[in-house]
Amino acid sequence: MALIQKIDRSGVEPRTDGARAFLKRADKSMLIGGEWTNGRSARRLESIDPATGQHLATFPQATVGDVNDAVAAARACHEAGAWCSVVPARRAEIMWKIAELLDLHIDELAELETLDQGKPLAVGRWAEIPGAAAQFRYFAGMATKIEGRTITPSIDYQPEGKRVHAYTTKEPVGVVAAITPWNSPLIMYAMKLAPALAAGCSVILKPAEETSLTAIRLGELIVEAGVPAGAVNIVTGLGEEVGAALARHPDVDKVAFTGSTETGRAILDAAKGNLKKVTLELGGKSPVILLNDANLDLAVAGAANAIFFNAGQVCVAGSRLYAQDAIYDYVLDRLAEIGGRMVLGHGLKPETEMGPLVSAQHATRVAAMIKSGLEEGASLRTGGDTFGPLETFISPTLLADVGPDMKVVREEIFGPVLTCASFQDVDEVIDLANASSYGLAASVWTESLSAAHLITSQLRTGTVWINSHLMFDPSLPIGGYKQSGWGRESGQMAVENYLETKTVCAVV
Ligand code: NAD
Repeated sequence: MALIQKIDRSGVEPRTDGARAFLKRADKSMLIGGEWTNGRSARRLESIDPATGQHLATFPQATVGDVNDAVAAARACHEAGAWCSVVPARRAEIMWKIAELLDLHIDELAELETLDQGKPLAVGRWAEIPGAAAQFRYFAGMATKIEGRTITPSIDYQPEGKRVHAYTTKEPVGVVAAITPWNSPLIMYAMKLAPALAAGCSVILKPAEETSLTAIRLGELIVEAGVPAGAVNIVTGLGEEVGAALARHPDVDKVAFTGSTETGRAILDAAKGNLKKVTLELGGKSPVILLNDANLDLAVAGAANAIFFNAGQVCVAGSRLYAQDAIYDYVLDRLAEIGGRMVLGHGLKPETEMGPLVSAQHATRVAAMIKSGLEEGASLRTGGDTFGPLETFISPTLLADVGPDMKVVREEIFGPVLTCASFQDVDEVIDLANASSYGLAASVWTESLSAAHLITSQLRTGTVWINSHLMFDPSLPIGGYKQSGWGRESGQMAVENYLETKTVCAVV
């Protein structure tokens, strides 16, 4: 049984002046064309603390008209060259300034993220917000390194005495809609905004309706950093209304989407009208493979972190454990011990190791998945409890002895729920690991260099960690095989998502 703190409001007020001042301001609004606005209607959405149900703030529920205004503002900025014609070194300076402002306001942002999303303060403070700043710094560096190539074609039919001079140039793709999920808001914004801004695009950011507060605060910092009006617009509202309007808008050139595979399919459908470019970072069901010779202290701690970090609300969470038969029982005992010891509570309390899930609706879905696993014959090694004022807390849960056809093994749960199975040999575990419609990430834990690389080469996933899980860096591309997505974010190639290549072929 996990250690459960009393979930109340005592001691969970934000400590930073910045977070308190932000929450006190009644007028949370959207950023369109450099102006803060409530949009065309009086409709508002409410942000609540998922741990306590406490009201935090309201923010605009945008209409399709607001989406049109934001797209028009982004288009006008682009056509006027207000951002894309700024010399790359200056763009880089402004992006670096955004990173500095994130650093400067890190405690405030971490508190806002915890209140709005539920995550333990340390997750935002030490991992996600530094990660967001790192994205802006990395892609600030890329802004000055966007280059075409000179090419010598083999065309031999040019007029006598002439030759062919050919080269490529890179140009921003134009107006980008960035649509993001609620699990790690700030880093998701950064993973899209940073490469898009480096490329010279104008962006409309649509944060998840569950967690829009830090998008609004980031917008203020972006303005302060000197990003011109219209280059970044922030529109808050519902996915099926605002997100869908962006995805189908004829004047949006590209959608950069992170979210569920189901919504990814809807985005593709909506985007087909003007065949806009689409990148999709979708769901996952990532295997964690422990071989008999693994360093078990590292592997067990790593496997626990892979599923319990951010309460399992991580696209690359290690949600399927495969431990080789000689170590299976030992690994499960140790994981159950770790899960059972974890301190659950409000994310602002320093002792909290796991916060609530993002909403009552999501927690109900996760609880139903646990129930379905038990009904299908999994055995509960620890966890399975739901509690808290909104029933948003779910204790770290191990479902043991699962079969490959169970729903809990096939479908993404996106909560602190680990399915566990044993295997005998390497071929068997490669088949088990690959038996998924997802292909986002995996980890392999072994002291054998050759086993690690042999398995890695056969896993159909966009990332494989060896003797680690959840290692991120802006330099490391991330994205999925199979139904986990299209394209990659982070890494040098990510900026290409926001660029067109123009081929110039001249007879001179
Ligand atoms: P979601 O798909 O429900 O929502 C994501 C975003 O899409 C939100 O902003 C939402 O408002 C918007 N949206 C919803 N319906 C829409 C529509 N019809 N048209 C356009 N936009 C729409 O996902 P979620 O529940 O917020 O996030 C959890 C999911 O995100 C999980 O599946 C997780 O694996 C995935 N995720 C993937 C990555 C990755 O990098 N691959 C990272 C984080 C999260």
